[in-house]
Amino acid sequence: MHNIFQFLLPTYCTLCGSVSETNICNACHTHFLVNQTPRCTKCALPLFTQQTQLCGACLSTPPFFDITLACTDYQAPIDSIVLALKFGGHLFQAETIARLLGKTICQHRDSGTNMPALLCPVPLSRQRLISRGFNQAMEIARPISRLLAIPLYSDLLWRLKDTLPQSQLHPDQRHRNVQSAFSIHPDLVHLIDGQNVGIIDDVMTTGTTLNEIAKLLKRYGAARVSNFVFARTVRQ
Ligand SMILES: [Zn+2]
Ligand SMILES: [Zn+2]
Repeated sequence: MHNIFQFLLPTYCTLCGSVSETNICNACHTHFLVNQTPRCTKCALPLFTQQTQLCGACLSTPPFFDITLACTDYQAPIDSIVLALKFGGHLFQAETIARLLGKTICQHRDSGTNMPALLCPVPLSRQRLISRGFNQAMEIARPISRLLAIPLYSDLLWRLKDTLPQSQLHPDQRHRNVQSAFSIHPDLVHLIDGQNVGIIDDVMTTGTTLNEIAKLLKRYGAARVSNFVFARTVRQ
């Protein structure tokens, strides 16, 4: 419902603080979300040549997932949207992210990308869900499911154990950190057989978590796994 104060009080761009009708102003939208370098089709890392569709890492060690779409790099000031959602509890930012990510997915759908039959957010462990009160990936996935008219199964994947943030670990420790961290709901496993499964998350850091999920989904019969993430961490 509209509040009279919405018409009287100015709104400000989340990224630059200037007065804006939307929570990301046109200039920031163009600068941070439209003018993008090409990305690796599998893992969404920026590519510095138009000659190939895959980065060196995906060429040498192909991941289990098939594609990753990302709106932007995970960097300042874009990270403020994610941090406000995750740690500030500003749930309206999930709508902002969903609108932007939904637009990116629609552009790819219109250019002929194979769309998933079902969507699932990257789950949080029960313990972290209780302490945070919500799963940011679920908050982003819900409006995207409505926009794309693709069913959302929030219980398809379970997170069995808390894992340390992948960014804080040595590359050798990352695989062990997420290994056996997830399972598939036994009553829903038939849904993924032969299907393209879409996984939604706010940020893709190293890709190890999403790779572990894709490995599990394929072991249980998924034909394809498509990752949809708002922001992609660029390797240092
Ligand atoms: Zn701005
Ligand atoms: Zn790649």
